[in-house]
Amino acid sequence: MTMGVSQIITYSPAYTLVPTYECFNRCSYCNFRADPGQSSWLTLTEADHLLKQLQSQGICEILILSGEVHPHSPRRKAWFQRIYDLCELALSRGFLPHTNGGPLQFEEMRSLKSVNVSMGLMLEQITPQLQQTVHRHAPSKIPQVRLQQLVWAGELQIPFTTGLLLGIGETSEDWWETLDAIAQLHTQYGHIQEVILQPHSPGHQQYWQAPAFDPQQLPQVIAKARQILPADITLQIPPNLVLDDQWLLACLAAGARDLGGIGPKDEVNPDYPHPQIQRLQNSIEPAGWHLVPRLPLYPQYNDWLSPRLQQAVLNIRFNDIQQGSDVLIDK
Ligand code: SF4
Repeated sequence: MTMGVSQIITYSPAYTLVPTYECFNRCSYCNFRADPGQSSWLTLTEADHLLKQLQSQGICEILILSGEVHPHSPRRKAWFQRIYDLCELALSRGFLPHTNGGPLQFEEMRSLKSVNVSMGLMLEQITPQLQQTVHRHAPSKIPQVRLQQLVWAGELQIPFTTGLLLGIGETSEDWWETLDAIAQLHTQYGHIQEVILQPHSPGHQQYWQAPAFDPQQLPQVIAKARQILPADITLQIPPNLVLDDQWLLACLAAGARDLGGIGPKDEVNPDYPHPQIQRLQNSIEPAGWHLVPRLPLYPQYNDWLSPRLQQAVLNIRFNDIQQGSDVLIDK
């Protein structure tokens, strides 16, 4: 079948490993965190058991998503080592790791580059106003801290995913400023492979009482983001947070081209299960869209990887073709 590129919507077949839910921040909309010391850490034995079960299920990406141990905590080194070891383990089992563990020190980031094909951190919003409200108890959400991460990722040539969390008390002007900041960083370093536009979606664990982001606003944000961001940055929306097919299609029409990692559970929004791939395909196909799996590394960044990671990517592509599954595309 011949398809125009504009008809293709991608997603990453993914599974999320959570080294720990403990987090020293307390974002008031969080549905993920546990208090420090209240969440056991995922052991390598437990992780290996999970990973073995995932082999031959068509999963490419292991998203390593962690709550944060304070940078000055005596447990920080062990926390970081656990994340590193989980990445190594995922690689050894034939998966491609992508880590989002919150703000990292420069050397931590450099070290993780050797075992991740890409990494991520949501910028969320750069307005400092949120430090007075939803981020009052979240030092990791200080905008300068997160912007610094994007700079370091650029300096280290790490293919990077970032994004905006929408509807946490910011203004529409704040959206455009945050997008401008991402655009400027990408213009300088060329490292942002995708930007997620994530609508705030209330869950049972959060203590901030606020409505969900209005889905009718999302296409407008996407369209403006498409104008602000360089064309080589893909716009991503989470399909489990855009529940109405009509709005999902409106988001695609406005310029969204990726649905992110889709797996058994959205750990950040556990109240919103991911839709089945087939159901998604059925929803978007009548409008001319075709859903295609992709890797957590966009192909234009292949040269930034070490030879070992390049080989890991090649192995996944080879296995994919051997199994006769839908071939991962080069966008
Ligand atoms: S949103 Fe992230 S940084 Fe904030 S409390 Fe939850 S896990 Fe921690």
